[in-house]
Amino acid sequence: MIETIPLPATDYPPDAPFWSAALRSQLSIQQCEYCQRLRFPPRPMCPHCQSVEHAWVTLSGRAKVWSFTMPQPPLLPIFEKMLPYVVVLAEIVEDPNIRIIGNLVSETYESITNVDVTNLKIGADLRVRFRSCATDVALPCWILSEEL
Ligand SMILES: [Zn+2]
Repeated sequence: MIETIPLPATDYPPDAPFWSAALRSQLSIQQCEYCQRLRFPPRPMCPHCQSVEHAWVTLSGRAKVWSFTMPQPPLLPIFEKMLPYVVVLAEIVEDPNIRIIGNLVSETYESITNVDVTNLKIGADLRVRFRSCATDVALPCWILSEEL
């Protein structure tokens, strides 16, 4: 039985810069150095032009709600203990084809439970935040933002 939240491996080469940036509260993704397109999740080769040359760019952290859900049981026990919470699929403003998943959190982003969802809707403005989940893991999460 899973007793703790499963955390990502943050030292795997294609992903490591993403997780390092997250520890600095920055949302950073790959940009192809040949065709300039952004790509996420991290991968060794551009899916558009097959170039292996890329740079890491820091995004604004602004996004819009593409979709969301409020998980319901049955869930793994560790997730059931955290109910109620909201999972958001966030469309980044720099490229609407790139979506990043994360919890919706309150403005203090200390908790994922009992977040005010009054203004939660498809297309609502979001800003990224980062929640520390271990000494080497900060997970991206989102707050509702009225000013984008
Ligand atoms: Zn490319």
